[in-house]
Amino acid sequence: MSFKNFKCVPKMIFGRGSFAQLDAVLAAERKAANDFVVFLVDDVHQNKSLAGRLPAKTHDLIIYVNVEEEPTTKQVDALTAQVQAFNTKLPVSVIGLGGGSTLDLAKAVSLMLTNNGGSAEYQGWDLINNPAVHHIGIPTISGTGAEASRTAVLCGPVRKLGLNSDYTVFDQIIMDSELIAGVPTEQWFFTGMDCYIHCVESLEGTYLNEFAKAYAEKSMDLCREVFINNHEEKDDKLMMASYMGGMSIAYSQVGACHAISYGLGYVLGYHHGIGNCLAFNVLEEFYPEGVEEFRKMMALHNINLPKHICRDLPDETIAKMVAVTKSMGPLWDNVYGAGWEEKVTDEMLTKLFRRI
Ligand code: NAD
Ligand code: ZN
Repeated sequence: MSFKNFKCVPKMIFGRGSFAQLDAVLAAERKAANDFVVFLVDDVHQNKSLAGRLPAKTHDLIIYVNVEEEPTTKQVDALTAQVQAFNTKLPVSVIGLGGGSTLDLAKAVSLMLTNNGGSAEYQGWDLINNPAVHHIGIPTISGTGAEASRTAVLCGPVRKLGLNSDYTVFDQIIMDSELIAGVPTEQWFFTGMDCYIHCVESLEGTYLNEFAKAYAEKSMDLCREVFINNHEEKDDKLMMASYMGGMSIAYSQVGACHAISYGLGYVLGYHHGIGNCLAFNVLEEFYPEGVEEFRKMMALHNINLPKHICRDLPDETIAKMVAVTKSMGPLWDNVYGAGWEEKVTDEMLTKLFRRI
């Protein structure tokens, strides 16, 4: 048996207003006069006060990224080329400022600046050869745990799969809860539920161990403070929950909900957060307590999920989603343990999809 040797983020700053410290963090990386930094910023912040607070110097590159679609290998390759065209030198840091999508773009671009070829070649596990450019993650919406993880999830020509490697992990994260204050309720809920679901899947899974359990239990308590008790410091709590949920699944695995959500996302284009909510809502047999509490949280925040999105779809479309979902071996192994192949049948998955 071999135990995971988990590489985690070595430096982190936490606290309201800590974004202001980014300038000092970058000063430590800027050594020569012509050193430059790349800011990849979610375009939702363009022309907003946060954009005016970027500690950019005249020779830095600021790129506003659009995350209407989840990140693709094509987008990563184009951004990498844009950075290379801007300056033949490597930047001294790449900063991702936004949600899980923007954080993943920053991770991926920092890797592709030092690794030849296209990013699709590196979708998988430990395929990256060279260390990335120094990269910093600054979430402006919380839940995915992308700030803590060793993957950058990308939709490629063949599949949606991450660049999973030790080099993917951020060198620095800044968790400033002021930055997540203005997120619209629905999006806040969907991305926040990603975190709650990470905890449920980790705690209910066969991969559970004391490391993963400690993080998931605490993260789940924090989610309850946020989504049930409406705690006055809920932004700080959600930010911490997201990080800890990410730490938990990094040392365990996600489960049935993510497997189904990947199917929904790949075939129908549903984004990670809402896809998870749609899937989780039909998984009461897998996660009875979690689903009950999730429904209570939906009611508290007046969240209405779209209904019957799969009920009338052609059989071939359902079959495609079933195939993607079924291919998530480690996730099902986490759900059922050895012998999962006999339990994850087309019939069982088709029934679940038809209820979504
Ligand atoms: P996101 O980054 O896709 O953003 C969702 C929406 O929120 C966007 O419209 C964005 O512009 C907006 N937004 C972000 N910050 C905002 C703010 N402060 N105010 C108002 N709007 C704001 O959302 P997400 O749910 O954080 O990330 C989902 C992505 O993360 C998916 O692509 C998924 O594959 C990926 N993911 C990665 C990991 C990982 O470990 N790397 C884990 C889970 C999910
Ligand atoms: Zn997730």
